[in-house]
Order: sequence, then structure tokens, then C-alpha cells
Amino acid sequence: MPPSSPTPSAFTFPVAARYAGMASSPLKDIFALAAKPDVVSFAGGIPDPSLFALEDIAECYDWVLTHQGTRALQYGVSEGEAELREQAARRLSRDLATDASQIRITSGSQEGLFVAAEALLEPGDVVLVESPTYLAAVQAFAVHGARMVGVETDDGGVLPDALDRAIRLHRPRLVYLIPTFQNPTGRSMSAERRAQVAEVLRRYDVPLIEDDPYGELSFDGHRFAPIAAEPGMSGRTLLMKSMSKLMSPGVRIGWIRAEGPILDTLAVAKAAISMQSSVVDQLTVARYLETKDLDAHVRRVIEVYRARRDAMAAALTPVLPAQAHVTRPEGGMFLWAALGEGYDAQLMLDDAVAAGVAYLPGWSFYAEDPDLSTMRLSFVTHSPEVIEQAVGRLGEVIARQG
Ligand code: PMP
Repeated sequence: MPPSSPTPSAFTFPVAARYAGMASSPLKDIFALAAKPDVVSFAGGIPDPSLFALEDIAECYDWVLTHQGTRALQYGVSEGEAELREQAARRLSRDLATDASQIRITSGSQEGLFVAAEALLEPGDVVLVESPTYLAAVQAFAVHGARMVGVETDDGGVLPDALDRAIRLHRPRLVYLIPTFQNPTGRSMSAERRAQVAEVLRRYDVPLIEDDPYGELSFDGHRFAPIAAEPGMSGRTLLMKSMSKLMSPGVRIGWIRAEGPILDTLAVAKAAISMQSSVVDQLTVARYLETKDLDAHVRRVIEVYRARRDAMAAALTPVLPAQAHVTRPEGGMFLWAALGEGYDAQLMLDDAVAAGVAYLPGWSFYAEDPDLSTMRLSFVTHSPEVIEQAVGRLGEVIARQG
């Protein structure tokens, strides 16, 4: 007989103040709703699993376990495995000369953000972010006690004048930007805007976290040089890259590019959090990058994503209210629609889910002053036909609100 389960006690763990109120995220409920089988969900940023290079990746895991097995199954170094840091530096060097010694491997960019926050932030520090910005980055900073302040943006990204004003007003510890195919808006900053932003950051000596998981998912082949490549910026920027959107989010591999003494601090923070990222996964990704053609794979993926972006943009245009504003991203995974005055995307969601379509209400991406009429729609997971039908149903929901 198994022992009977102990009587539940009235004990409640006292949680850290910075986690209080974070126990249940309203987004968890939204994702649960969106996961219902009869709902077409545009809510998550989920790569289409049918596009994974499954055979190639399996072959690399197999090779690593066969030829590097004992090493792959052993502890590794906090900085990351040498082969992967070499491959990471080689890829980054297309945009910005990088040596393997300047790379720190992380378990995805999400851990990169947490490691950076751990290394840089004191409770009460201000972090300036785009308005709107990537929610989980805000969370990684918030649990380290930082206060997020949103900086005004337009269709070309963060406004340099607004950034200048916010820096003078708030004296931030750092600025966090996603300059290319941003999450949630899909917008990108032009070369000119990047130079202006770099100029402001240099003027006030404010460090930058530049998060770039989507830059290589460029539909017209245009590569945006990172802000880190602007004159004088490489030593002031933590540039974050991830394999999640290019190869697989499940392998949990990303990297931070940095220069100077901060590299040691990042390694210490990484060691405190998780010792090192999985050695098996690191060696496998290194093998994949060395022996397979990631660029060719990415070209196949963006062909599919571009057609889906086109399908969603075309289906949305006729169903949005005349006053609405919608982005038409040249890459990445997301489209952002602001329905305008009088619409509340959160309130509309139940009706949308009942009609079999889900999206992410935009309020959650704002550090402050949310535009309640906004929504993020991921166009990468479903076929053009499914997108057209589901956006049609979304149109009926929108029409009922108007
Ligand atoms: N940064 C941004 C802007 C993202 O959109 C994401 C994934 N949604 C991440 C970081 C984290 O990605 P990962 O941890 O899978 O690399």
C-alpha cells in the first residue's frame, strides 16, 4: 500500500516581494484558451514544427553522442563550449567582427536576458524599453527589482529624441531594444535611426542590451547591421542572439556577444544560475552549424513565412476598421494591429475564441500606458488558407464591436 498523502497544511510559502503578484499571469489563461483544439491561435510565437530540420538535427545529435559522448554528457564550462563559441563568432562576424572569446553561451536568449539582468541590475534601477516591448524581457528585468519605463516609438522604432529625454529624466541603468522585426510589432529601425540611437547612447554613456532573435528571418534578404556595429558601440552593447527561431526553440541555445570585463561577470552570473548550458545541445548545435547549411534552411523557412505574412496582411486589410493601423513586417513572426479608439482587444478575446480564433491582446507588451486596442498576431504557425479563414472570423468579431 502506498503511504497516504500527508494532510495538506495551511502553510503558505512567503515569496519575495518582487515575485508577489506574478503568481498567475493572465497570459497563461490566454495561452490555455488559445490551445483549445477548435481555435486557430495567432497568440504564441511558435515556429511551424513541420519546418524543423529534424533529420539533420537527429544526425548531429547522433554524431555528437557517438564521437564526443563522454564529453557531451559531462559538466562543461560556464562560458560555453569552444566549438559553439567559434561558430557563433563566425556567424556574428558577418555583421560585426567577433572573436570566440567574446561569446557567452546561454540557454536561449531568455536566459541571456536573465543573466544580463543578474549581472547588471540593482533593485530600483530604471530600464528604458520600447513602448511596446517584449513582455518576457520586462519580466526578467522586473524580478531583479528594476523599474521599466517605456519610450515612445513610431513605425521606425524608438524615437531618438524621446530616448534622449527619457535618459535625462530617469538616469537608466540600461536601455533594452529589439531593433529588427521587433516583438511584438514586427517593426525595424532603419540604418539612420540606428545611428541616431547610438549617438544618444554614447552621449550619455548608457549601456545597451540589443536583442536580435529575428534579424535573420528577413523576407527580402535585407540584413540590418546591429546597433552594436555603430562606431563606439560594440563595447557598450550586450548583443543577444538565439537559435530558437532559426533552428529550434527546444534546443534552448543562444549567445551573448560582449567585450571587456563584463564577459567575466556574465560567466559568473551564468555559473550561479545554471553552471552551463547543456553540453550535448551545445555540441550538437556547433556540429549543425559546422556541417549543415543553416542559411539554406532559413531561406526555406522564410519562403513559407513570407507567404503567410502576405496572406495575413491581405486578409486583415478589408476586415479592420478604417481608423486601424497595422504593421507589414519585412521579416520575423509578428504583425501588430491597433484597432483604434473604442476597441478593447482583451474584452473582444472571449468572442474571438468562441468564433475559433485567438490573438494576444497588446496591453501586456506595455511597461505603462497600454493602448488597449492593440493585438499581436503571429503569422508563422498556420497555412495561408487557415489564416484567411480565421482572419475572416476575426473580422466578424471586430465588426460586432464597431
Ligand atoms: N527576445 C525576444 C525579443 C523574443 O521574442 C524571444 C522569444 N519569444 C526571446 C528573446 C527568447 O527566446 P529564446 O529564449 O527562445 O531564445
